[in-house]
Amino acid sequence: MRDETKVIHSGYESENSTKSVAVPIYQTVAYEFDSAQHAADLFNLEVEGNIYTRLMNPTNDVLGKRVAELEGGVGALAVSAGSAAINYAVLTIAEHGNNIVSTPQLYGGTYTLFAHAFARLGIEARFAEDGRPESLEKLIDEKTSAVFCESISNPVGSIADIEGIAEMAHKHGVPLIVDNTVATPILIKPIDYGADIVVHSLTKYMGGHGNSLGGIIVDSGRFPWAKNAKRFPMMNEPEPAYHGVVYAKDIGDTAFIARARTVPMRNTGSTLSPFNAFLILQGIETLALRMERHCKNAFKVANYLEAHPQVESVNYGGLSTSPYYELAKKYTKGKPSALLSFDIKGGIDAGVRFFDSLKLFKRLVNIGDAKSLVAHPASTTHRQLSDEELITAGISKGTLRLCVGIEHIDDILEDLGQALEAAK
Ligand SMILES: *Cc1c(COP(=O)(O)O)cnc(C)c1O
Repeated sequence: MRDETKVIHSGYESENSTKSVAVPIYQTVAYEFDSAQHAADLFNLEVEGNIYTRLMNPTNDVLGKRVAELEGGVGALAVSAGSAAINYAVLTIAEHGNNIVSTPQLYGGTYTLFAHAFARLGIEARFAEDGRPESLEKLIDEKTSAVFCESISNPVGSIADIEGIAEMAHKHGVPLIVDNTVATPILIKPIDYGADIVVHSLTKYMGGHGNSLGGIIVDSGRFPWAKNAKRFPMMNEPEPAYHGVVYAKDIGDTAFIARARTVPMRNTGSTLSPFNAFLILQGIETLALRMERHCKNAFKVANYLEAHPQVESVNYGGLSTSPYYELAKKYTKGKPSALLSFDIKGGIDAGVRFFDSLKLFKRLVNIGDAKSLVAHPASTTHRQLSDEELITAGISKGTLRLCVGIEHIDDILEDLGQALEAAK
């Protein structure tokens, strides 16, 4: 099946007893055992079946299968938020004494998780000076558990050279984790370029309507955990938190996602609500259509702003002036999603006047909604960052971030025009 078909059909066949065509919402905590023996067999992993929703749920399972198929992975685990997906993806393979190596241009929440929350757990985040494979390579040592990047970064819109980074990481026996939230599998499939693990905030384009938090981890099934046994003891030694299983040996291809489910998620419970899974599945059905319109509108907005006398600079990978233009061509066929940032002439004061004058664009901190959105990162998502960290993250105090929606383009441009006029 092609993506346009997968978004609608993957992971679900009309359920046996009811023939429900829509994916049913299994709003249940537990699943009944036939007998003591059946229960024991389930707990011993000798038969397949559901036990408790913190571990597994049939609605969430459809979502997992659909996203795994779209990304070209062997399995996926749906969790309560994108942040939980990133947290669990790292904790599945890293512990006290390990480090992760990351590109510097990240979603603000991810930066904070890495730089501060992980530091307290003894997992050191090492941020490269820029996103080039050689800059990341300098930071890798024998304690490195993963390399991390965003395929298209939020909010700056930088585009990762996934192929180059994956090749470099694999040379050192280290897996690559890619946050594919901004691109979605419609625009970029990181696994095709060598990524080992893909994470998403489903809250954004995947759900697409700004109504449900959700996250997912997708396993490519390709990283050789057993070949790198010294680096990954958690995958290669008996797991005391789960029946002494040796994931890399006993589970096979889906070892990573099995450990993510049965250790971090089972023990700490950032499970996705089945109702949210239903809403996100509903959103995914139109993902291909929406991304097409999002990209088309964003390209027109970027060109409009670039030609506008009051605009100092526009940052969008679809513009030939962007330093990411070539990477955008290679990885997204020139359609680098609908997130763009720009600096207005007149600095922070003009920025604030512009921001306050918008009528159609919603002032908020979210991306990937059908509605057009505007944010001022320096006062919100990136408020935690010092001036120096802001510069490394590619954000100035006056930078405005737009996430172009799927409304009629003329209405979008009219709103931007009147707000630029009011900002004078
Ligand atoms: C929003 C976002 C996240 C965090 O996702 P939540 O669902 O809000 O927890 C992670 N990465 C990127 C790129 C995001 O845009």
